[in-house]
Amino acid sequence: MSVGYRPHGARITDMHPRTMTVALGLTLALLYLLSACNGGGDALQRIQSRGELQVVTRNSPTTYYIDRDGANGFEYALAGLLARELGVDLKIQIAFTLDELFETLNRDEADLAAAGLTLTEQRQEHFPHSSSYYKLKPQVVYVAGKTRPTGIEMIAGRRTVVLADSSHVEELRRLQQSGSPDLQWEEVPGADTMDLLEMLDTGEAEFAVIDSNEFEVQRSLYPRLKVAFDLLADTEQDMVWYLAPGADNARLQAYIEQFFGRLRQDGTLDRLREQYFGHTEGFSRMSSHTFTNNMRTTLPPYKKLIQQVAEEYQLDWQLLAAIAYQESHWDPRATSPTGVRGLMMLTTATAKEIGVSNRLDPLQSLRGGSRYLKILRRRLPKSIREPDRTWFALAAYNIGLGHLEDARVLTQRQGGDPDLWQDVMARLPLLQKSSHYKKTRYGYARGAEAANYVQNIRHYHNILNWQDISDNKPLPPLKIEEYLPQVLRGSKLSVL
Ligand code: GLU
Repeated sequence: MSVGYRPHGARITDMHPRTMTVALGLTLALLYLLSACNGGGDALQRIQSRGELQVVTRNSPTTYYIDRDGANGFEYALAGLLARELGVDLKIQIAFTLDELFETLNRDEADLAAAGLTLTEQRQEHFPHSSSYYKLKPQVVYVAGKTRPTGIEMIAGRRTVVLADSSHVEELRRLQQSGSPDLQWEEVPGADTMDLLEMLDTGEAEFAVIDSNEFEVQRSLYPRLKVAFDLLADTEQDMVWYLAPGADNARLQAYIEQFFGRLRQDGTLDRLREQYFGHTEGFSRMSSHTFTNNMRTTLPPYKKLIQQVAEEYQLDWQLLAAIAYQESHWDPRATSPTGVRGLMMLTTATAKEIGVSNRLDPLQSLRGGSRYLKILRRRLPKSIREPDRTWFALAAYNIGLGHLEDARVLTQRQGGDPDLWQDVMARLPLLQKSSHYKKTRYGYARGAEAANYVQNIRHYHNILNWQDISDNKPLPPLKIEEYLPQVLRGSKLSVL
């Protein structure tokens, strides 16, 4: 207390030197604390004192979403690495429109925006930004089969949609002012380009302007849509992070620069780009023919083991074999870019949860996968009956119970039966459409992939069953159904 007390008229220098040092130290500490509480100090200091990096993003396939491994996405991965370097937690805020995203930043309610954002002249006037960590091109997308436009003169006066407040609005405006006065477009509020693709697909619009990376990732859902031409010929744009404008950002900006520099140098950035954009991960439907070949060549060394584990867990061995094939093509050393491994492709988290110490050990992997599947099957609502219960459990194996529950809620809302696989399967792809996932509890998920995953397994399961049966008893070709187990009868996928 005496430290703060200064008799009237006394000068600081009158104090004893030690008292003065203590006083100064405490005053500084107090100022620091006050500034931290008031949101003062510089941006980097504030992040460190609150122990949290606040990032605003969009819930979309190219930025941030939740899948069976938890939170995921290119921006999420990058922001997570930054938070780790800073030694703080990562807090994600989701904006549902680009306007909302920049407003959040403007109000200083987030430290940075990481959302597949293009560097534009207007934005950089208001917001400090990082250097480029990805190159992209805005592209004009159209419906294949219709006349393909080859330049902007061909889309002038036609119905073109873009995301409101996106970089593409700025680009179109510039093109309009520099020699294409007839250029028109419609600005659709939202933060997800999937809305635009949907409008094209349903014929509501003729063209859409979309970033190359976004189209690449989402095109498998819209096989009819194609790129017509690049909006800006021979120009690549920069994807950057934007920082809040008000705060003193100099040190945070420098920190981020160093951070990106390191990621560039040690190959992390390349790895992440490849992981999230390098290939579209749709499940390629293997032909029955290829599968049957694999059944003869790759399966035999593991068949006994699969049968043994299936018996231990009271599972149908053909089902276990079908899952293992869908997961790893019966390769016990299989590894995915996201780090899931082994015959049953377990994530590190799942392996830990179910007590698997070596995911590459075929026996452990099969046991772990079986145990996990049984746990999921048990956790499903009682109202779901076999065989659908198994398909639901498989969907959960792929996408997680939370998203599956979202799909069931959507099914019910649309008048379907949430306990029927056929009904829920039809709604799973809706989890990829922002008009739907915005209203779900767990948000965006690769639902189409999950539906495909289950259907593939059922397909392989059928073939294995058939093979097993035909090994013992030759089948009359027209009565295959009679030889299928009860569970599989009537299955639409009995492609036999
Ligand atoms: N990159 C765009 C932007 O910064 C958003 C995505 C898009 O519109 O395709 O506004």
